[in-house]
Amino acid sequence: MVPLLAYVGLGANLGDPAEAVRTAVDALGRMPASRVEAVSGLYRSAPIDAEGPDFINAVAALHTTLTAYELLAQLQAIEAEFGRERPYTNAPRTLDLDLLLYGDREIVSDDLTVPHARMHERAFVLRPLAELTGETFPIPGRGPIASLLEAVSAQPITKLENE
Ligand code: AMP
Repeated sequence: MVPLLAYVGLGANLGDPAEAVRTAVDALGRMPASRVEAVSGLYRSAPIDAEGPDFINAVAALHTTLTAYELLAQLQAIEAEFGRERPYTNAPRTLDLDLLLYGDREIVSDDLTVPHARMHERAFVLRPLAELTGETFPIPGRGPIASLLEAVSAQPITKLENE
């Protein structure tokens, strides 16, 4: 398979979330047939559709020859490694990994929706993603990040300095 660029969203809000995100980026680098090309800075955001303390979020760009489903399985294995527990819906989680973009592919199936179904309405995805892609980058089916960012400008999010 020709390598393509995939973008993965990382989020954590329990324990030491910044450390969890950094450790998760290391784990992404150990996935088969994949190489981490770039990682955004870390951002702090209030929980949306979730409970608990603020999240720390970041986005990583990966070159990969894994299929989208293989990549999702790898991400879920890393989440499991982090001892993710889901005692109830939207319970605070230690690590959440989302496949945001898989090249310019659009995938809709029971297990996988790419671009990620809610990414276009979340500042904590769009801000770190724009750091890597630039704001003119088009999200397949949604348009340029710049116009999506305008729509989420009320969502509180802060970039962590010195991280
Ligand atoms: P969450 O609890 O938000 O991590 O959602 C996990 C569920 O979402 C899993 O059952 C996945 O199969 C499904 N899912 C669908 N599309 C995606 C995606 N693009 N990235 C990650 N999980 C996805």
